[in-house]
Amino acid sequence: MSEMRSSTSELHAGFVPEFDALYRGSPYWELDTADARMFVGAGPSGREPQADWVGEVLGRSRVVGLNERAAHLVGAPAGREEMIGRPIADFWPPDSQDDLAELIADVATDRSPRVIRTRDIGSLLLQDPVLTVWRSHETGADTVFVAVRGAVNDRRSYWSLRASEERYRKLIHHIPNPLLRVDARAMGRVFARLKAEGVNDLDSYLDAHPELLAFAEQSVRITEINRAAALLFGATSATDLVGPVKCLLQASPETTRRVMVAQFDGRRSHAEVMKLCTLDGRLLDVQLAVTFPTPPEQLDVTVISLDDLTDRLRTEAQLRQLQADFTRAARISTLGELATSIAHEVNQPLAAIFTNAETSLRWLARDEPNLAKVVQLTTRIAASARHATEIVQRIRAMTAKHAPERRPLELNEVVDEALLFLRHDIETRSIRLSARLGLGLPRVIGDRVQLQQVIVNLLVNSAQAIGQAGAKGGLVELSTGLSEAGEVVFVIRDNGPGIPAEDLDRIFEGFFTTKDEGMGLGLAICQSIMTAHGGGIVASNRPEGGACFRLWLPAEPIAAQGWETRPL
Ligand code: ADP
Repeated sequence: MSEMRSSTSELHAGFVPEFDALYRGSPYWELDTADARMFVGAGPSGREPQADWVGEVLGRSRVVGLNERAAHLVGAPAGREEMIGRPIADFWPPDSQDDLAELIADVATDRSPRVIRTRDIGSLLLQDPVLTVWRSHETGADTVFVAVRGAVNDRRSYWSLRASEERYRKLIHHIPNPLLRVDARAMGRVFARLKAEGVNDLDSYLDAHPELLAFAEQSVRITEINRAAALLFGATSATDLVGPVKCLLQASPETTRRVMVAQFDGRRSHAEVMKLCTLDGRLLDVQLAVTFPTPPEQLDVTVISLDDLTDRLRTEAQLRQLQADFTRAARISTLGELATSIAHEVNQPLAAIFTNAETSLRWLARDEPNLAKVVQLTTRIAASARHATEIVQRIRAMTAKHAPERRPLELNEVVDEALLFLRHDIETRSIRLSARLGLGLPRVIGDRVQLQQVIVNLLVNSAQAIGQAGAKGGLVELSTGLSEAGEVVFVIRDNGPGIPAEDLDRIFEGFFTTKDEGMGLGLAICQSIMTAHGGGIVASNRPEGGACFRLWLPAEPIAAQGWETRPL
C-alpha cells in the first residue's frame, strides 16, 4: 500500500516537468492540506500569541505519500508506512519548520492553477538545501507537494545519523531510571513570539492567560518512553503514553507552570517532587527532572526523568512515627521518675478535701448546725477537687498520644506548668529553684505539651547532675526573656559538675548518655522539638562551674491573630 502511494506521489510530482529534472532522486512528500488551508484561511485568530501557528499548519498537513528518500531523510523509526496518514509536523526537522509552514500556507491558499514556491533553508542534515513546495490543479485542490534538494545523494549522513540514533535509543531503553522524551518545540515557538512581543515575566503572563497552561499540556507531547517509565506508569506498552504531556501532570497541575517558567527563563533544567497518577490508578510521589536541550531548536529532545520516591517518603513517615513514639516513651519514663513529685502534688488537694469534709461533718453534727461554715468548707472542697482534676488532666496530656499542634502560647505559663511536675522532687533533693520570668514577652507558636517536655527534661537533667556531684547547696536558675534578634529565650543554669568539653558536641546525639540508667534520648528529643518549632537549643558551661542550656523560639508574628490549630 505504501509502495503504491509512494509511486503515485512520484508520478504526481512529475506533473511539474521543470522541477522533475531538478528534483529527480530527491525526497518528495505528498500532503493533504485541506485542514491547513481552512486553518490559515480562518484568518488572524490563528496568530494569537499563545497559538502555535507553525505547529497548527504542519499538524494539519497530513502525509498521504512519500518516496523512500523522504522516509530516510526525516523518517519515523518504523519508516515510511508509519508516516502515512500522520501530520508532517511529526517528522519535519525543527530547524526548517517555520519555512515549511509558511510555504505550505502560501501554496495551499493561493488558488492559481499552478503555484510553486522555493526557499533556501538552513539544515544540519543537508548542505545548502532548497525547499520547494508546489500545487497544481491536475493533482487536486488540496494536494501539495514538498521536495528538498541538497546533498541528499550522500546517504551516509542519514544512515550514520540513524545508527547513532539507534544506539541512543538502545541506551535510553536500558537505563533503569524512568525516562521520557518530550517534544516541547511548540512552546519554544510560542515563547519566542512572546519574548519578541516584550513579555519577560511568564508567571504574571500566565495569571492573565491561564489558557496557555492548557495549551502547553496539549501541545507538548511525549514522543517516547523507556521501559522503566512504562513500568512506573503501569503502562502495558511503551506507546500507551505517547501523546500530550497532560497525562503526566494531571495530579500536579502547578508543576506545568513551574516547568514552563523554567523553560521560558532559559534555565537548563528544572527539578521538583510531584504527585504522579499512574495509568492503573496509583498515586506516587516522584522526583521530576526536566532537562531542556541546548540549542533550544532541539526542544523535541527534551528529556524528563522520574524517580519514584514513594517508598522513601513512606519510610521517612514511618521514622517520624517511630520518633514520635520514642518521644512519648521518653516522656512517660520521665513522668515515672517524677512519680513521687506528682503523687505529692495530687495529695495536697486530696488532703485538703479530706480535712475540710471532716470539719464540715462536725459542724453538721452539732445540735444547731452552722450552715454558713458548711457552705464555706464545701466551697473549699470543690476548689480542691478542681485543682486535683487539673493536675490529673495535665499528666494525662503529657502521656497522651496526640499530633503536635501550633498554637500561640505564653512561654512563662509553659515554664510554670513544667515546674508543677518537679517542684516537690527538686525540693526533696534540697535544691534551690529560682525563676526570673520576663514580663510582657511576646507569645510563641507551638505545642504546649512538647515545650513543657523540653523544660521538664532540662530540669531533670540539672537536678540529676547536681545530685550526682553530691555537693550541698544545689541551685537551678531559670529565666525567660527576649533576645536582641527578637526571639523568646529560655535559659536554665545549674551549679552541677558541668559538661566535659569533649562531650559538648555529643550530648544532643541520640543514645549519648553518661548515666548508668540513662537512655540518652532526652536532649536529642529536646533538640528535635526545638528545631520543629523553628527555634534551637545550645549547651555551654558556666565559667563559675555548672551547665547552661539556652533555648530560643521565634516570637509570634504581630499580624497573627485568632487561635488556629494546625499540625506542626
Ligand atoms: P540521659 O539523661 O538519659 O543521659 P540526655 O540526652 O538528657 O540523656 O543527656 C545526655 C547527656 O548529657 C547526659 O548523660 C549527661 O552526660 C549530659 N548532660 C545533660 N544535662 C546535663 C547537665 N545539666 N549537666 C551536666 N551534664 C548534662
